[in-house]
Amino acid sequence: MRLVLLGPPGAGKGTQATTIAEEFGIVHVATGDIFRGNVGQGTDLGMQAKAYMDRGELVPDQVVIAMVIDRLAEPDAASGFLLDGFPRTVPQAEALEVVLQERDQPLDAVVRFNVSEEELLARLEGRREEEGRTDDDSEVIRKRLVEYRTKTAPLESFYAERGLLHDVDAIGTVEEVSERTLKLLRRLGTS
Ligand code: AMP
Repeated sequence: MRLVLLGPPGAGKGTQATTIAEEFGIVHVATGDIFRGNVGQGTDLGMQAKAYMDRGELVPDQVVIAMVIDRLAEPDAASGFLLDGFPRTVPQAEALEVVLQERDQPLDAVVRFNVSEEELLARLEGRREEEGRTDDDSEVIRKRLVEYRTKTAPLESFYAERGLLHDVDAIGTVEEVSERTLKLLRRLGTS
């Protein structure tokens, strides 16, 4: 199974991704986590990404695309993967499509988590308090939501045109949303 999770910051992608990856025995590739890991280790990639992340902006496409292509070339991604936080722009989605076409392994589905903007702001404020993420302060949160609306939301029609887009209502408990998502994916897997 090859999946992409789509949804604004705070929609619960990361939490759901862990459950889905476990359930289907596929690799969970979270670009934000990879960047944070690199920032923590002080690598070149981390230094390149940090300034953008701290401002709530997207890291430039060429940096992210190269990183994801490398990751998907690793052996554990051969039998399936779940992308969480990538693609976030149309050029990223196009690059992914080309790579997967070359491997003759197209995406199976793109799952979009739907949450209202009010709910998102409340969740992101909560996460800032719990996790102390430096990119979760109010101004940065607002910027990240604008980045989502302007650069990432166009992916919804990109994938809808390809017949890959599926919606999950992401309001409710983590368990409720997991249940809805797994139900959808099992149905897709057997159809
Ligand atoms: P996330 O944890 O997915 O919300 O990502 C945290 C931050 O990492 C984002 O606000 C961006 O600065 C950066 N980032 C993660 N994934 C991408 C991506 N696909 N394209 C550009 N920037 C990204």
